Amino acid sequence: MDVLNGAVKMAQDIGTKAAKKAGELKETTKLKLEIRSKEDFIERQYREIGKRLYEDTKDDDSNSYEEVFLINRTFEEIAELQKLMADITGTVKCKSCDADVDPSSAFCPKCGAKMENEAEDEDDEETIVTVDVEEPGDDDGE
Ligand SMILES: [Zn+2]
Repeated sequence: MDVLNGAVKMAQDIGTKAAKKAGELKETTKLKLEIRSKEDFIERQYREIGKRLYEDTKDDDSNSYEEVFLINRTFEEIAELQKLMADITGTVKCKSCDADVDPSSAFCPKCGAKMENEAEDEDDEETIVTVDVEEPGDDDGE
């Protein structure tokens, strides 16, 4: 019976080891999640510092952060894209609340912010091509 007892003992050991492993896994998973959530928290604080630094230096041309210039340029690119969007939808975005506003409005109907209307500057760049098409059955005397 020694052989059987040995086998039982071995099986018990394996079972104990598996349970221990499972327990370790659960514990390390929990710790990993906790570490991850704290790292995310730090990332958010970094972003917050970055935003404040940006706000403080965006109008200062002598600042030494290349990123500030890159962000400024990207904001300009976004404004250009929004203009293209406005040409398609016929609306402009409110800069304070992001609402779609009729381009003729002086103020945002949602938040009341003053709208900067830049559409007039570009009118002369537009070329309107009209093509006269004579449709059969058109009742205008021709
Ligand atoms: Zn608004």
